[in-house]
Amino acid sequence: MIIFGTRASNIGNFDVPKSKCEYCEMESTQRISVFGKYAHIFWIPFFPIGKKAIAECTHCKRTVEQKEFSTKLNQLYQENKSKAKRPFWHWLGLGTIGSLIALITIIAITAEEDPRSKLLDNDLNRMTSSPTMESDSISFKIKQLFDSIVADEINPDDFEYLTKIQGSKALILVKMPKLKKVEKSERSEALDIIEIITNNQDDLKGKEKYIGVSGAISMMLIKTPTYEKNSRLALTSELFEFYGPKAEFLK
Ligand SMILES: [Zn+2]
Repeated sequence: MIIFGTRASNIGNFDVPKSKCEYCEMESTQRISVFGKYAHIFWIPFFPIGKKAIAECTHCKRTVEQKEFSTKLNQLYQENKSKAKRPFWHWLGLGTIGSLIALITIIAITAEEDPRSKLLDNDLNRMTSSPTMESDSISFKIKQLFDSIVADEINPDDFEYLTKIQGSKALILVKMPKLKKVEKSERSEALDIIEIITNNQDDLKGKEKYIGVSGAISMMLIKTPTYEKNSRLALTSELFEFYGPKAEFLK
């Protein structure tokens, strides 16, 4: 089966005045047909790859290939070949791919990035594996409990923490690089443990809690006042609300 190759289609014809047929010697009987060659993949034209021409005598029907054109015939062809316009469909494949890329680029540019994602990235980068009682007492207490109950193969020493209180809201972030190794059904226990501790902290009394637990790469457990998810596709954007409504950042 031929998957790709080249094909040609007739893209224009014109009469050649004052040229003489080499065979029947009639004047002005030749007609040049121009073919546009194009590359195809699965018979879908992809992109054009040059033109070729054939002259035919309307009287004796003999044809002359382009490489055998007389000087006169070639000159007339060169003068007229721009009249043979390629149809758009010779570009179909490449054009479609190009349009798709352009479309995706436009979508990517116009899809306005939520300014709060940078704030969350900053906080994620500030997480530490050794929170102290002075710098972050809540994270310190969460770590103490995790260190004592988490199995060694999940490496609790590698966990990272950050707790942040802002107005009536609290952000509690924990990173467990080996969280993926934990059965999905058991992962939410990490959330339960964090909640047990945070519910007993005076600092967090009456605060709306935005809890995010990430694995090595992405957020896997999220619990906010309005959202709860235990999934590798947990929506990080659900934590943005901690920073305030998006509109406030777009002013
Ligand atoms: Zn002829």
